[in-house]
Amino acid sequence: MTHQARKRFGQNFLQDQSIIYNILAQAHPVKGEHWLEIGPGLGALTKPLLKTQVRLDVVELDRDLVKHLQQQFADHPNLTIHSADALEFDFSALAHANEKLRVIGNLPYNISTPLMFHLLENTNCIQDMHFMLQKEVVDRICAAPGSKTYGRLSVMMQYYCATEILFDVPPESFDPAPKVMSAIVKLTPHLQAPVTIKNLVSFKQLVTQAFSQRRKTIRNSLKNWVDEQQMLALGIDPSLRAESLNLEQFASLNMHANNDEVGLPPLKPI
Ligand code: SAH
Repeated sequence: MTHQARKRFGQNFLQDQSIIYNILAQAHPVKGEHWLEIGPGLGALTKPLLKTQVRLDVVELDRDLVKHLQQQFADHPNLTIHSADALEFDFSALAHANEKLRVIGNLPYNISTPLMFHLLENTNCIQDMHFMLQKEVVDRICAAPGSKTYGRLSVMMQYYCATEILFDVPPESFDPAPKVMSAIVKLTPHLQAPVTIKNLVSFKQLVTQAFSQRRKTIRNSLKNWVDEQQMLALGIDPSLRAESLNLEQFASLNMHANNDEVGLPPLKPI
């Protein structure tokens, strides 16, 4: 069918078969597994996934594409097509008891970050996720302390998941070609939280505050929430900047911070 790509839905369709093959080879679907694809579009990833005989749920926002998918894959009983907005979708209802979902998607770039947090915050039934994202976002997700791209997104994502860059994907692999480089990231949610935090809201708030003025020392940026003596007692040098603190250090600052007693300002999306 001919489909005019819609910019407002972030439509960049994969067309390079070797890239599609590589994504599937790395993600390695196994017959009988339960998969979820976000934004199947014209079925570039859906088709090879179905060949592996997994059970597959797909969530697509564009109704024209939903119709097209229904026709294209009419003879696939293993496929369930949901005509819905992935940002509003209740994913926890998909997995059966004792079952974990494997998630994949060439995500619309404008919703990629809120969507990942929607998935992570609302379900504990995800085995792993393979996403195509803007390379710049993948770099930020996977960055280690001390690197230029390390920030709020790195800390929050690494609280939830083990993160891994798999490979880069150039613009010409898509139709239409996006303006930026893309990359595939693998996110594997931790079975147990890697660090102890007070609660998510105050943790997110503290991380946001620390990075809101990257050049400031934490002595200054966090001065209303953790005093300098407390930082020293935790073995954290108050003259450090947020960009050199690791996840454990953010967590221990959060455990001793009083930001949830002073009233939290509304959270900005990550
Ligand atoms: N997977 C396909 C299409 C990728 S383009 C491929 O690789 O070729 C991104 C897809 O996400 C489009 O099909 C777009 O319509 C869909 N989409 C955009 N916003 C969405 C949302 N909020 N929920 C579900 N799907 C969405």
